[in-house]
Amino acid sequence: MFRSRLGPYVETSKAQAIMVRNSYRGTISVRSIFCPVCLAWIALGATILVGCDVRQSKSASVQKKIPESAGSTSDSAQSEKLKSGEPELGSLSHEDLDATLWLQTSAEYKAIAESTYQLAWEKVQIGLTDPRWSALELQSEALAEQRTNGDSSEPRLLQPAVILDIDETVLDNSAYQAESIKLGREFEPKSWHEFCERAESKAIPGSKRFLDRCRQSGIAAFFLSNREHDVTEATIRNLTDQGLLLPEEKGRVLNKGQQPDWSSDKETRRQFVAKDYRVLVLVGDDLNDFVSVGFKPQSSERRRIADAQRDSWGRIWFILPNANYGGWERAIYGWDDSLPRGEKLKQKHAALISSNQPAEAAAPEPNK
Ligand SMILES: [Mg+2]
Repeated sequence: MFRSRLGPYVETSKAQAIMVRNSYRGTISVRSIFCPVCLAWIALGATILVGCDVRQSKSASVQKKIPESAGSTSDSAQSEKLKSGEPELGSLSHEDLDATLWLQTSAEYKAIAESTYQLAWEKVQIGLTDPRWSALELQSEALAEQRTNGDSSEPRLLQPAVILDIDETVLDNSAYQAESIKLGREFEPKSWHEFCERAESKAIPGSKRFLDRCRQSGIAAFFLSNREHDVTEATIRNLTDQGLLLPEEKGRVLNKGQQPDWSSDKETRRQFVAKDYRVLVLVGDDLNDFVSVGFKPQSSERRRIADAQRDSWGRIWFILPNANYGGWERAIYGWDDSLPRGEKLKQKHAALISSNQPAEAAAPEPNK
C-alpha cells in the first residue's frame, strides 16, 4: 500500500539522488561541488534517502507487529474485537467461513432443513399406525423376530417417540462459528462452554413445527446430545426458550455423562429410550446420531456404514447437513484434536480428491 501510493515519487527522487552521488564519484570536479546548484541537488538527495529509509523501516515494523497482535485471545480483547466489527487478520480466510455463511444466509439450507423435517413427519405418521415400525435396529429386529416365530399377537404396546440430536439438529449454533471466524480462532472447549451457557441459539428451520406436530399426536421427543453434563440446565433453558421443549419434558434431554454408561457413543442412550418407547424416527446431523460407529472410525469406514444403511435414510433416519464440523472432519485428521491448526489444515488438503481416482487412493488415511 505504502509503496504503491508513493512509488513514483520515491523512485524519481531516488534516481535524482543516485545521479548526484554518481556525479560526485566520477565526473564532477571538486570545485564544481561547491556551486549552489550542486549543493542544492546533494541536500535534496540526502533528505529523500533518509526519509525513504525511515518510512520503509516504519512500514516493516508495522508489518511485523500485525501477526503478533492477531493472536491475542484475552476475554476483554475478544469482546472488543467482536464489538468493533473489524475482521481479525486471518479470519478472512477462516476454514469455516463459507460453511457458516451458507447455513446462516442461504435459502437452500433453509429449504433442506424444512424438507428434512417435513419428510420425517410424513414417515412418523406412517410409523404411528404400524406397531412393528421402529427406527432402532435392535427394536425392529425384535419385532421382526416376533413375525418369524408366527406370533400373531400385537407387540407390547410401547408409547411412540422420536429421538433427535440437539446441536445443528434442533439448535443452530452458527453464532458460535461466526464469533470464532471473526476472532480467527478454532473450536475450543472454554469458549464453547460459555456459548452454551448463554443459551441463545435459535431453532433449526422446521424443527419446532415437527416437534409441535409430534406433541399434538402424543409422540414423545427425546434429545440425545454430546454436550457436557454441566451445561444441561443451560441447554434445557435454550430449548424451552425456543419452544422446542416444555418445562415438564426436561427429563427427556439426555446428555453425555448423565449416567455412567452414557458415553459419546449414543447407543446406550437409544436403548435406554427403547425400553419404554417405540422409536419412530431418528433425526441428527452426524452418523453417530443414528448408529454406533466404533472407536475413531476412518472416513472410508464411516462411508461404508452409511452405505450399509441406505434403506434407513429418508425412511426412518433423517440427517441434516453440517459442513462446519462433525465426525466427518475429525476422521480426516485422525481424531487428534490436539494437533496444531496448521497440521489439521495440511491433512485436509491432502485428503482432497482432485481426479476420478477412488477417495482412498487420493490420500492415505491418517493413523487412528
Ligand atoms: Mg449435532
